[in-house]
Amino acid sequence: PNTYRSKKVVVLGLARSGQAVARVFQKYGAKLVVNDLKPRDQSPEADVLEALGISVVCGHHPDDLIDENTALVVKNPGIPYSSPPVQRALELGVEVVTEVEVAQHVTSAPIIGITGSNGKTTTTTWTYEMLKAGGKRPIIAGNIGIPLCEAAEEAESDHWLVTELSSFQLKGTGDFHPKIACLLNIYATHLDYHGSIDDYISSKYKLFANQTAEDIAVLHADDEACVQLSKQIKSGIVWFSVRHEVDHGVWLKSDGGKELVIWRDGEGVDHALIESGEMTLRGRHNLENAAAAAAIALCAGTPMDAVKEVLKTFQGVEHRLEYVTQKNGISFYNDSKSTNPTSTMKALDAFERKVILIAGGLDRGMDYKELTEWFKGKVKGIVTLGETRVKLNKVAQEAGITHIQTVETGKENVHQALQEALDKALSMAQEGDTVLLSPACASWDMFSTYEQRGRIFKETVHNL
Ligand code: ADP
Repeated sequence: PNTYRSKKVVVLGLARSGQAVARVFQKYGAKLVVNDLKPRDQSPEADVLEALGISVVCGHHPDDLIDENTALVVKNPGIPYSSPPVQRALELGVEVVTEVEVAQHVTSAPIIGITGSNGKTTTTTWTYEMLKAGGKRPIIAGNIGIPLCEAAEEAESDHWLVTELSSFQLKGTGDFHPKIACLLNIYATHLDYHGSIDDYISSKYKLFANQTAEDIAVLHADDEACVQLSKQIKSGIVWFSVRHEVDHGVWLKSDGGKELVIWRDGEGVDHALIESGEMTLRGRHNLENAAAAAAIALCAGTPMDAVKEVLKTFQGVEHRLEYVTQKNGISFYNDSKSTNPTSTMKALDAFERKVILIAGGLDRGMDYKELTEWFKGKVKGIVTLGETRVKLNKVAQEAGITHIQTVETGKENVHQALQEALDKALSMAQEGDTVLLSPACASWDMFSTYEQRGRIFKETVHNL
């Protein structure tokens, strides 16, 4: 930020990360303009920034927002590259970055960067808990917790910035250089934003672009995109796998009917961390997240005992395959964070028992055929809602599910919609069954966020 003293810097998006980055540039003496399409009366944050002497424009993009004098644009990760001011900046050759790129330059604390299509929040939180239990000084930041810029400004050199990063954030980076970087997996998702799978993958790969042999890449040996990446980077590689042995990293070893999670250190010596059945968190995918978190934490120098302890005790994160309660022998799970089909497959995979699935939401133009095989045998009945309800009903029919019900109530009354969904689910359920909200879709067709969807679901369950 020092190189932008007295220069014009435009911050697009007044969300928390925009405010954080504006504060940083203000401190370094840049000429700032913060702009958001949201009207002024819905942007109380504007007052706070203006009190600091920062110029804020709300409600529209002024014509002269981006001009020849603009030295840098920091855009909110959610703003698409097709947005007019971003297009204008790119036409003029102005650099466009995201807030995490700036954060890199204001701290000497080591950064742990975690990305992937699914499992980021769980793995980041798990890693953070391991470091904390091991007496390290972690700060959780990025896509969860506080914006990385804010965390970076507060961090001292012995802190660890444990950072969750989305492909949207990574697309706007250039110098970003984590000490430890982890790619969990790549599934075809967010293609509406990226335009192509190649753009999506190359955004994720950017996390590793500046790493050297001194740095560590924690990669998923069972994921093709990770294997390809390993051939292109200079980083020291530490693997995790739930399918086979690895040279260095975390893997699963069958041992007389048991399954041990093993850390193979840099000397090739194996250390048993835990028996997989002893973990609180269920689901095969969570074994992958556990393996990744353990590998990262151990690479950061966390004592093995702390890693073992937290592997066992970690309860997971709200809205991710979260156990709600049991009523009349029926168990309820909230997996509202499942915003794509892969998450729902992973959720179904976690249950042996018959599931009554509540699914549906925003239509991003995907088809859900890949769910067919997972529905067979696992899903006893389905209740669909939201924009994708008809598409999902079709998939359910193809899977041979006979109990299919649809909720027609939409965003006009979301409490009522989830009440109806649960009533319908209960009409199909028997003692021993599981009712699972795992929508396979984003929530914005009806709800303001997936958190709101999950919370109303839990409330409604508790009131049944
Ligand atoms: P993210 O932050 O990447 O969205 P979360 O940890 O919040 O990931 O988990 C979101 C959902 O993705 C979970 O509800 C679960 O169904 C699914 N999921 C979690 N971890 C994995 C994984 N390693 N592989 C595939 N799906 C996963």
